[in-house]
Amino acid sequence: MKVHTVGGYNEVGKNMTAIEVNGEIVIIDMGADMETVIEYEEEMETLSTKEAIEAGAVPDDSDIHDRKDDVVAIVISHGHLDHTLAVPKLAKVYDCPIYATPFTKKIVERIIKDDDARVNNGVRTLKIGETTTLSDHFELEFVKITHSIPHTPLTVLHTSDGTAVYSCDFKLDEEPTLGNKPDYERIRELGDEGVKAYIADSTRTDQKGRTKSEHETAIELRSIINRAYEDNEGVIVTTFSSHIARLNNILDANDGRRKVAFIGRSLKEYTQSAQELDLIDLSNVEVLSYYNEVEDFLRRASKEKGDWLIVCTGNQGEPNAVLSRIARGEYNYHIDEKDRVIFSSSTIPAPVNEANRYKVEKLLRERGTQVEVDVHSHGHGMREDQRDMIRLLEPEHIVPAHGGTEKLAATASLAIDEGYVLEQNVHISQNGNIVNLDRPA
Ligand SMILES: [Zn+2]
Repeated sequence: MKVHTVGGYNEVGKNMTAIEVNGEIVIIDMGADMETVIEYEEEMETLSTKEAIEAGAVPDDSDIHDRKDDVVAIVISHGHLDHTLAVPKLAKVYDCPIYATPFTKKIVERIIKDDDARVNNGVRTLKIGETTTLSDHFELEFVKITHSIPHTPLTVLHTSDGTAVYSCDFKLDEEPTLGNKPDYERIRELGDEGVKAYIADSTRTDQKGRTKSEHETAIELRSIINRAYEDNEGVIVTTFSSHIARLNNILDANDGRRKVAFIGRSLKEYTQSAQELDLIDLSNVEVLSYYNEVEDFLRRASKEKGDWLIVCTGNQGEPNAVLSRIARGEYNYHIDEKDRVIFSSSTIPAPVNEANRYKVEKLLRERGTQVEVDVHSHGHGMREDQRDMIRLLEPEHIVPAHGGTEKLAATASLAIDEGYVLEQNVHISQNGNIVNLDRPA
C-alpha cells in the first residue's frame, strides 16, 4: 500500500490523498485552498485547471494524473470546500465515479454546476453505515463520526493489502445535536480487524485537551438569545452556512418566540439541500437571497426589530456577505445600540479573514452594537480526541494530514507518545510525495 499525499500536507486546505494498492488508485477528496479562493473570488471559476494549480488554489495532482487510467474511484469525504471545491477542476480527467454521502453529493453537484465544468464522472451515493465495492482491490465503507457539517463519515478503504482509515475531519462529540454519536463499536472493531494505515486529521491536534460538544454551544446560544429577547433587542446571528446542526440550534433557541429569516445566497443553498434530506425544517423561516428582496425585508425588519431573529451570512467578515453590508449601512437596516450581533463561529486563522473580521466588528462596535464572538465549538478533535482515535484503531502506520509541518508534527509527537516511531510507522509527508508502506522499515 502506498499513500500519495497530494494536497493538505503543507497547509490547512486543498486536501487530497490517494491510496494505491496493486496498481489501483482511489482518490480521497479534492479540496481547494480557501485563502487563495477568497483572493480570486469570482475569477476562480474562469481559471483553467493549470492556472488553478499554479495559483495554489487546488492540489497539484500531476503525479496521479500521469497514471489516470489506474484511478478506479474518487471518494469525497464530506461537503466542506477544502475537501470538495477542486472537483470541477480535477475530476474530469479521471474516468471513474465519485462517491459521497447524500448531503455531500448535493454540495458536489452544486459546485460542479456553479463552475460550469463538464464533469461527467457522476456522483454515486453511499450512506453512513454502508459498504460498497469499488474495484477488484477496494471496498469503501462509511462509518459514523461527528463533524460540523451533516453526513460526515470516517472514510474506510478495505483493500487486498489491508485497511486504510481516513479521518476526513472529525470530532468525538458525546452530545451531538443532529444525528448520532460516533460509532465507537465499529471503530473499535476496525482496530481489532487490523488497520494498516490511518490518515489522521491534524487540524487541531496541536491543541491540548478535548473539543467541546455542540450541545454546550446550543446552551450558550440559548442564554445569549434569551437575554437579548428580554431586552427587546434586534438580534442578528451569523454562522457557517453549511453548519446545519448549528442552524437547528438557533431555531431551537428561538423556540417560536420570534419570526426567523435566513439571509444570504449560501445560507439558502445549504439549507435547501438540508431540507430536501429532512435535516432542517424551513417551514417557519423566511429564506432570502436576492438583493431586492433582502433590501425590502431589512427595511421592514429595521422598524420591528423586536419581532425578528435574523440569521445571515458573513461570519468571516466576507466583504460581500450580508452582515458586512448591514454594518456598512448599505441596506436600510439601521444597526445601532438596540442590536446584538452574535458570531456563532470562530475566525478561520488566515490574514484575510482576520482583517475582514476586524473591519466588520469595528464598524458594528462604532455604531454601539453589542457584539458576541466565538459562540462556537469547532469540528475538529484536539489532542486527547486524537489519542482516543489512535487507541481505538491501533493502526500499523499513521500518516498525519490536513496541516503544515507544525500541525503534522503535533500528531506525530502524540503518536510517538503512544509508542510509535518516526519514519518507521509514523510518517510526516509533504504535498506531491508518496509514503510507501511496503518498504521494509
Ligand atoms: Zn471539514
